[in-house]
Amino acid sequence: MTVHVPANAATTPESCPALVLNADFRPLSYYPLSLWGWQDAIKAVFLDRVNIVSEYDFSVRSPGFSMRLPSVVSLKTYVKPSRHPAFTRFNVFLRDRFTCQYCGAQEELTFDHVVPRSKGGQTVWENVVAACSPCNLRKADKMPRQVDMFPAQAPYSPTVQDLHQNGRHFPPNYLHESWMDYLYWDTELDP
Ligand SMILES: [Zn+2]
Repeated sequence: MTVHVPANAATTPESCPALVLNADFRPLSYYPLSLWGWQDAIKAVFLDRVNIVSEYDFSVRSPGFSMRLPSVVSLKTYVKPSRHPAFTRFNVFLRDRFTCQYCGAQEELTFDHVVPRSKGGQTVWENVVAACSPCNLRKADKMPRQVDMFPAQAPYSPTVQDLHQNGRHFPPNYLHESWMDYLYWDTELDP
């Protein structure tokens, strides 16, 4: 469930993160979504590192100073995005579409080492899959062949593109409406 927060919903500066875009106006990263807290966003504005693209209807004030908090900023200098996403819990789930690779369940997700750690299996993209707790318990420290449990999709190291593809089905929980122009922007361009 995605909540689109209306522009007037902001009540505290802490509820006003800024979406950070690269100089090409794409998010600096999708997973996790590149967000800065309001202090970092304002600091970057004053250091002349970013342009303000959009603002909240919310100002911070001190004597003689008032500024609307940025809701979207773009870097002035292009940062080359990394081709390979970080090996994180969220990204493994995203690669596996939040689905147990043994039974297809989408509840109680955890991880499973395909080759168990006790048998030398490593915690790497190529050996870790999303699995539900019951399957994880059932497989325990057995090899796939011993329990006849093989992952639906052989685990692999995904590219940012792979995750982006899957991410369209699982948008973040919090999306300010001013961000929408910059997220999943190429969806309609795909055949
Ligand atoms: Zn399962």
